[in-house]
Amino acid sequence: MSKINLRALSKAAMEEFVKEQGLPAYRAKQILHWIYEKRVESIKDITELSRELRDKLSDAAYVSNLQLLSRQASKDGTEKFLFGLEDGESIESVLIPDEDRHTLCISSQVGCAMSCGFCLTGGIGFKRNLKAHEIVDQIIAVSRLISKTNRPIPPLTKGGERGVTNIVLMGMGEPLLNLDEVVEALHRITELMGFSKRRITLSTCGIAPAIPELYRKAPHVNLAISLNATTDDVRNRLMPVNRKYPIRVLLDACRKAQLLLSSRDRITFEYVMIDSMNDSLADAKRLVALLKGIPSKVNLIPFNPFAGSTFKRPSDERVLAFQEILVRGKIYTFIRKSKGQDILAACGQLKAGYKA
Ligand code: SAH
Repeated sequence: MSKINLRALSKAAMEEFVKEQGLPAYRAKQILHWIYEKRVESIKDITELSRELRDKLSDAAYVSNLQLLSRQASKDGTEKFLFGLEDGESIESVLIPDEDRHTLCISSQVGCAMSCGFCLTGGIGFKRNLKAHEIVDQIIAVSRLISKTNRPIPPLTKGGERGVTNIVLMGMGEPLLNLDEVVEALHRITELMGFSKRRITLSTCGIAPAIPELYRKAPHVNLAISLNATTDDVRNRLMPVNRKYPIRVLLDACRKAQLLLSSRDRITFEYVMIDSMNDSLADAKRLVALLKGIPSKVNLIPFNPFAGSTFKRPSDERVLAFQEILVRGKIYTFIRKSKGQDILAACGQLKAGYKA
């Protein structure tokens, strides 16, 4: 009989497993604590259990670990981790240290089926969905790695803790096309790891029907929508998903989701700015009009180039002029500095060693 992977078990499944092993119910809580808070790599390391019990459990079960295949550091402090999965596939996670936070960008799928024209991950195609534990394990693995070594993330100025403080589901893949596993991962991250949902952001290319569904099923994490265009014509060209869920349908889904949120929550709209494609002042004005009535904020992301792409990043002046129109339209607008470009760790540059 093959061994059970304890990391793959939900809370309920762990309670079941403990019962099957003839152990009292409190053992489930204990094991979950050691896996998610103490981040042990093996049953042997759960030292709160007697040696006999650890041996007995090890006969029936094990704890899987992501395999670190490579770790690269950018000159701006960003780090990219390439992890191997049990079936030989691989994924990337990116740690972005800032003065007061360590944001970890995690993947939800191996590859991506969305084929957005400006994204390198889109070029490798879709391999498979990640399981909930493979999503959560990126956080566990990186937390272990950065607490074990002294390089090269700078210390936080506040709190002084070296761990991950913020999580963004913005790495490889489209999280809302892997909704069940993502929802389970969010439950584990918030309930078992004790992470605040306010410090988690999920980014989607706009799978409209899944947006209100996410809010019904998962803790209410921050939502980011990759809008990237203001007309269906341009969005169809940049993001094939728009042919299925055009802008109006997508924004209606956002309005519906907003009804499920508390009034102070805003939806973030990401807007990758591409030279002469979606960066005109007319686009900025249309964007103001489109977002009317949706409590929102906008992140402008100047396009990150990669080999083989024909798109170009607009000039700083153009980005600033675009921002100014949004600000005058009373929309909170930020220009996102993309970090880690020199190691292909910035938005849209992840390919996990696959040929794109
Ligand atoms: N599938 C999800 C999450 C992955 S993409 C989504 O589409 O939101 C994460 C963000 O990176 C998205 O906002 C996407 O529009 C942006 N992005 C992709 N390629 C980029 C590039 N080359 N330059 C800048 N941003 C990019």
